[in-house]
Amino acid sequence: MSEINAKSKITRRPTRSVKVRDLLLGSQHPIAIQSMCATKTQNIEATLGQIELLLEHGADIIRVAVDSKRDVEALAEIRKRTKARLVVDLQESYRLASLVAPHVDKIRYNPGHLHHHEKDIPVFEKVKFIVDCARQHELALRIGINFGSLDPSKSEHSEDSQQAALKSCDEHIEYMDRLGFENYVVSLKSSDPNAVISLNKAFAERHPMIPIHLGVTEAGMLPMGEIKTRVAFENLLALGIGDTLRVSLTLPFERKFEEILVGRKIVDDVYAGRFRSVPKFEHKGLNLISCPSCSRVENEAFVKLAEQVREISRFAQDENITIAVMGCRVNGPGETDDADLGLWCAPKHVNLKRRGTLLGAFSYEEILGRVKEELDALIAAKRAAA
Ligand code: SF4
Repeated sequence: MSEINAKSKITRRPTRSVKVRDLLLGSQHPIAIQSMCATKTQNIEATLGQIELLLEHGADIIRVAVDSKRDVEALAEIRKRTKARLVVDLQESYRLASLVAPHVDKIRYNPGHLHHHEKDIPVFEKVKFIVDCARQHELALRIGINFGSLDPSKSEHSEDSQQAALKSCDEHIEYMDRLGFENYVVSLKSSDPNAVISLNKAFAERHPMIPIHLGVTEAGMLPMGEIKTRVAFENLLALGIGDTLRVSLTLPFERKFEEILVGRKIVDDVYAGRFRSVPKFEHKGLNLISCPSCSRVENEAFVKLAEQVREISRFAQDENITIAVMGCRVNGPGETDDADLGLWCAPKHVNLKRRGTLLGAFSYEEILGRVKEELDALIAAKRAAA
């Protein structure tokens, strides 16, 4: 770990403040640390237990997954029994906003997800619907852009993913301006820490007053998950960029609170002048990315599967190959597109992709053998081409 005298030198980039019930986000306030429940939301006792555990470890805001009306009913009950600040991620169903709004403090929507349903309704109208709900219930919003699910209309007309992400962001900020709504933060996430750094720096220059939520998606298991996240966060926090953050780690339910501990530690280290990362994440060798899992995970064997994939691929440490392991069909198909090998879980099988092409669905017993075969074949093909 290198020590630099950063303590007195870091000045947060000035932003406006965003109110999440009694918590203020922005440059005048401490950096808030978030995490997410990985329990099934309808399992109210387990979800409340996880919320309490995250609160005990200092979570400022806690995300709960809601995908159905039954989840909404569970959320209403959870709301009655905890004082935690809750946030829900809308995924593709923007209309869910009106159902969850009475029970949460913040809503996240992904601009890339507003194009799939009700295609005849302009995206602006969908955003207006969400903003109206937020206004009525005095909620904060997060515009959450993700490299794995960019707005297709921006991807088609942009040079690269960064340009597409920034254009999408600009569009939604313009919608917010038109609607006269300011109580929102923005996140620009990728599983590549270098992309997270350049995206957020570019965003901070373009929109200096808007608070930023930092995150590296699918950072994976420890210790690599922390290393990737540190690379991005240290670079950005040292520039005063980042007002709230989440560390997305693949962890079993009962250890989910470690996301909070790692997040807090990174912030404390940066502000104490203790830096561990090199400025650039040199992406050499095997790159294993895996989602942090959440209540949407389709089979609880997911975390074990991710660990097993890590074990069987250890022999390929020095190969420049990316393997992505994802917990469900919501983000699995999109987030595995750029990987050499991509796996995403269904309840009884695991889908396997090679460089964006689906190879098939394999049982949980078969999948590891198949991944090993594909890995061997990829390495052999690379050697033959060298
Ligand atoms: S891929 Fe699915 S299970 Fe994993 S964190 Fe994302 S939504 Fe949750």
